[in-house]
Amino acid sequence: MWLIRINMKDRTYKVEESPKAYHTLAGRAMTSTLVSEEVPPTCHALGPNNKLVFAAGMVTGTSSPTSARISVGGKSPLTGGIKEANAGTSWARDFGIMRIKALVIEDQPAEKDQFWGVRLTWKDDKPHVELFEANDYKQQPLPGIFKEMYEKYGENVSICSVGPAGEYGYANSGIVFNDMHQRPSRYAGRGGLGAVMASKGLKFVILDKAGAPGVEIADKSLFDEGRKKMIDALREHAITKPKGGLNSYGTAVLINILNEAGGLPTRNFTSGRFEGAPRIAGEAIFEGNKKRLGKELYNHACSPGCIIQCSNTWHKEDGTEHTSCIEYESDWSLGANLGIDDLDVIAEMNELCNNYGLDTIETGTTLGVAMQAGVIPFGDGQGAINLVHEMGKGTPLGRILGAGTETTGKAYGVSHVPVVKGQSLPAYEPRAVKGIGITYATTTMGADHTAGYTIAPEILGVMGKQDPLSPEGKAALSRAFQSTTAFIDASGHCLFIAFAILDIASGYQGMIDEANGVLGTQWTADDVIKYGNEVLKKERAFNEAAGISPKADRLPEFFYTEPLPPHNQVFDVSDETLESVFGEM
Ligand code: SF4
Repeated sequence: MWLIRINMKDRTYKVEESPKAYHTLAGRAMTSTLVSEEVPPTCHALGPNNKLVFAAGMVTGTSSPTSARISVGGKSPLTGGIKEANAGTSWARDFGIMRIKALVIEDQPAEKDQFWGVRLTWKDDKPHVELFEANDYKQQPLPGIFKEMYEKYGENVSICSVGPAGEYGYANSGIVFNDMHQRPSRYAGRGGLGAVMASKGLKFVILDKAGAPGVEIADKSLFDEGRKKMIDALREHAITKPKGGLNSYGTAVLINILNEAGGLPTRNFTSGRFEGAPRIAGEAIFEGNKKRLGKELYNHACSPGCIIQCSNTWHKEDGTEHTSCIEYESDWSLGANLGIDDLDVIAEMNELCNNYGLDTIETGTTLGVAMQAGVIPFGDGQGAINLVHEMGKGTPLGRILGAGTETTGKAYGVSHVPVVKGQSLPAYEPRAVKGIGITYATTTMGADHTAGYTIAPEILGVMGKQDPLSPEGKAALSRAFQSTTAFIDASGHCLFIAFAILDIASGYQGMIDEANGVLGTQWTADDVIKYGNEVLKKERAFNEAAGISPKADRLPEFFYTEPLPPHNQVFDVSDETLESVFGEM
């Protein structure tokens, strides 16, 4: 395996064999380890001492299903703490096939606003690095520049880039990767890593895997056994199977489900129910496409080898494609959270975020706070579209909004600002779903549902149904989910395998067998938790050294004091309970 370091100050690079100590590290475990070992916690996230680290998962690049995830790490300009964000893309597969353990981007150019691209190919039995000047692509919408890159470097490459939002240094800018149809639509979205990449003068990383040897597998028969168990579980479970919930309606299937549960945050977290929910739900996307295309359209895979295939597209009246993909989180943040119930408006904002390189969650929550401040009224679709353009064009107002939800709240004197550690809350109301609130408060990432997705048991009944309104036992539940998730994020699997493997024990064993098969380890289910805990420990230590104390593991005050309709619940989880989540590691 190869460790590649590129210094963007002088554009020099090293391609070295990866140290043996990193053998079992991959994905989030690799990025968080390198960030915690090499980035000074108190450095400025957009300064020369921050590093941007890419690493694929343990099984990424193999034939394991639903496992083409790339992890990106660094210090976050949004939270000031450690950040890991991951995306599903062929870029991840190619990274694995090229046997790259990690790509580390260091330092930054002395020249301001100068950009370069990096192209990695396979030459002389190792990855080969080339840099090229990329100033012509500055400020360009991402779809156009992806098209040019494919024309220039060939149909078989994979592309990672940043948009204008990253170039402006926005704390809500993401890093974008290609999907299976060469769209710039798969985001390592949260925490402003797009701005970190742009601060290093890096516009593209292009992978050309031609000739690369593929992932080395220590025990092929064990790997194959694990792979089969995983495939069987994914094909069997109602949520993940072909033409099941995710394949038919995408993640936006959750709109109606959360609305019914009174946990769909509406109009900047002032209600748990949105009267327009059925008009923007996954079912409405399915039916709307059917009407406009004259046929049923099932979802597609964002990345190679995905069995679940949950990524949707939305089409205009004339049948042409408008955007892909409207994830549940984007549908909610740009829809219910803004009081907007028009899918064409949501699709337009989603596509603008894809064009400018914005995180859809942070964008929607920022607009929610701006609406609360009276900048535009709730429900004003055209006004919201205009504000996304302000961000994309870097106007003075756009720059405030681009700095994120918390900054926008401060700029307008709003006290009702849904953030933890500077990062906005995603699409599940913590007063109606207590376990996910505990995850938001305690994860190392700032409010992040993917860090410990207790929605699985609390709302979807995976592993048995738990009462979402009760805080009872939820600290332990969140902790168990956070530890297991850290392992899944290191394995390279998409988190959505969790629905199947948490219900089907052989699927869970399949994940472990696959990892053992690739790495030659003998891990058990207990080791999964231990591995995850080690990752979390490193991340928590980094945050503490960066000045984020465990006392920051809290939700904003209004969640404790304002009862949320329709259940009229507050977030009744004590500080002691929150502190118990990571009390003993
Ligand atoms: S389940 Fe959905 S998000 Fe996950 S890899 Fe498959 S298509 Fe992508």
